[in-house]
Order: sequence, then structure tokens, then C-alpha cells
Amino acid sequence: MSEPIPLIDLQAQRRRIDAGVRAAMERVLAHGRFIMGPEVEAVERRLADYTGAAHVVTCASGTEALTMVLRAWGVGPGDAVLVPAFTFVATAEAAALVGATPVFAEVRADTFNLDAGGLDAAAGTARAAGFRPRAVIPVDLFGQPADYAALLPAARAHGLLVLADAAQSVGARLDERRVGTFGGATATSFFPSKPLGCYGDGGAVFTDDEACAGVLRSLRIHGQGRSQYDNVRIGVNGRFDTLQAAILLEKLTIFDEELAARQRIAGRYSEGLRDVAEVPRVMPGARSAWAQYTLRVRDRDRLLEHLRSLGIAAAVYYPAPVHRQPAYAGYPRAPGELPVAEALCAEVISLPMHPYLEPAAQDRVIAAIRAFYGH
Ligand SMILES: *Cc1c(COP(=O)(O)O)cnc(C)c1O
Repeated sequence: MSEPIPLIDLQAQRRRIDAGVRAAMERVLAHGRFIMGPEVEAVERRLADYTGAAHVVTCASGTEALTMVLRAWGVGPGDAVLVPAFTFVATAEAAALVGATPVFAEVRADTFNLDAGGLDAAAGTARAAGFRPRAVIPVDLFGQPADYAALLPAARAHGLLVLADAAQSVGARLDERRVGTFGGATATSFFPSKPLGCYGDGGAVFTDDEACAGVLRSLRIHGQGRSQYDNVRIGVNGRFDTLQAAILLEKLTIFDEELAARQRIAGRYSEGLRDVAEVPRVMPGARSAWAQYTLRVRDRDRLLEHLRSLGIAAAVYYPAPVHRQPAYAGYPRAPGELPVAEALCAEVISLPMHPYLEPAAQDRVIAAIRAFYGH
């Protein structure tokens, strides 16, 4: 059998930047400031330059980034936070963690992202259940920015704060604006398999709101005030490690090249598969970070088995909408049973996608899928 094709290949990237990463880690070992060392501030400045956001506050994870923003905004018990039903669980988890109520809203069949037209229904559901709609968390699923041009005015009409979940989409753009500048704040994750990942857990918040950034800097260190032992609010231990910051600085040196490679690979998949499956649709003016290359297909589960039998790793993101997860089944959802989110969970499949995927391996994936459908 030919070589297995993994879904992502972090080792290929590591080999490329190995010398730089080792040198960066050595520098941290030498200066010894493992918590809030100089690399943390350096990477925050780099990310601010990169995204165009005025303030960047790094933290322990993407989930922590989402949760800290909700805390900073005072979102809590009695408040509803509208979230897409088709996303990674952490989006809804953040709302629940601050004591608010996640309310599940419908997504679009073409982009898989939150449907601005569904916000009305979700806000109505929240009110009918006795909660005050306070915020919405659009997700840039699989790397494509949500439709902020439609979502921001719809959120404003309901007085909702907008927290963008960009865990999968740093580096993506909408009309030349980079992700990180849409909405009141943007949260991202540096989990290793995200397009911009480190070698452990990490995350960040991007915002133009200076006061909010100040509160976030306090929250991540136990709600500190003027000094470490002046505690002015209930916070968390939510800091980003110095070692991870040093690694992320190295990764940023090759990030744009990696995004270009992902774009090329996505284009090649779409060319090879558009007549046998529903290939991903990117909105006009949008550029995806291609965290995943996710198709809608017929007979998904058998295709998955077929690919796996050929040594090709494919995955289902996500097999169930969040409102079907046992821990979230009791929360309100927009009326109509969210049929698009349900259908997507039954039809989507994500193919091997990383910047180092060789054309020959990609051709094997394409040929295997075409053969499955008799082409
Ligand atoms: C990964 C992810 C998160 C959570 O990030 P962590 O760093 O793993 O906590 C949140 N939302 C989405 C959409 C994600 O993909």
C-alpha cells in the first residue's frame, strides 16, 4: 500500500523552521522569564501589526480568549449569547462558562457560517425563554470569515455585542481587511493544528477598544490592578507562555507563505472535485485561511471508510451540531430545528490540508474520491 496521507503534517513544518525554533527556545531558557517574558509582548506587537488591530492580548487558549472577552463585557447570568449551531463546542462553552445562556442559531448552507437572516429568530427565542440577548459570536468556520457585512448591522439592530471567533481564521481577509478587526473583539487560538498554531495551547484577543484591552490584561492575571497583589476583579490564570510566544514568533516568519500554499492546494482540490462533490464556496471579496478543506458529499460515511481504507486520513468536522451534544441539549435554539446545521453534519467531510501537502499526495486523494463516485 502507498504511504498514508495524514490530515495535517506538523512535522513537515517543524523540519522547515527547526533551527529557528530551537534558537528561540534556547533564548528563553537562557533568560528564564517563563511567565510574561519579553517574547509575549513581542508577539502581541507582531500580531497587532499583522492584523491591523490596535490591541492584542495573548492568553492561555482560544477558549480562554472567548471567555475573557465575555467577562470583560460583563456578560453573565440572565444574558443570552447567540452562537452558530454548527461550530466547535468551545464557542458555546465560553457563553456557558460565564453563566450566560448560549442560544443556537442557524448557519448558511453555502459558507457554513452564521446566517445573519437567522439572528432575528434566535434573538426572539432568547427573549421568549426569558433571557436578554447581549452578544453574538460569529465563527469563521474552516478559515473563511463570516459575513460581517450582513452580521454587524443585524447585530446592531438587536443591540448585540459582536465577538468574532477567529480560532480557525487568522490571516483570512474580507475585502483587504484582515481578520481581527471585525466586531467589538476577536478571539483566536494557537492550538497546534490551527492555521497559526504554536506547540501547545495558546490564544489571543484582538480589539480596537483600549479600555477592553486593559480589562483583559488584568483578567488574565487574576484580575490584577496596579500590581500583582492588588486584585481589583475576579480574574483567571490565563497567560500565554513565553516559550510558546517564542515559537509563535518563528511561525509568523513563514505564515504568509503557508497561507499562499493552502490557497493553492484548496484551488487544486476544487478543480479536481467540483464535478463530483459540492466544493467549498468562498464569498466574493473573501479569502479563507483554509484551516480545513471541507466538502459536502453524497454517501459521506462510506466515502470516509473508502478513503481510510486507502490510507488517506479524512475527518468529519463536525459530526453533530452543538445543540445535539448532551451537555448543550437543554439550551434554547432558534425555531425550526436548525435544518441546515443538521444536514451539514451528515454531509461534510474534511480532506488532508496543510501547507506541505505534495501534489502527488493530493492527486491520490482526488483520484480516490473520483473513483468512489465512478469517475
Ligand atoms: C479551536 C477552536 C476554539 C478553541 O480554541 P482552544 O485554543 O482549543 O481553546 C474555539 N472556537 C473554534 C471555532 C475553534 O476551532
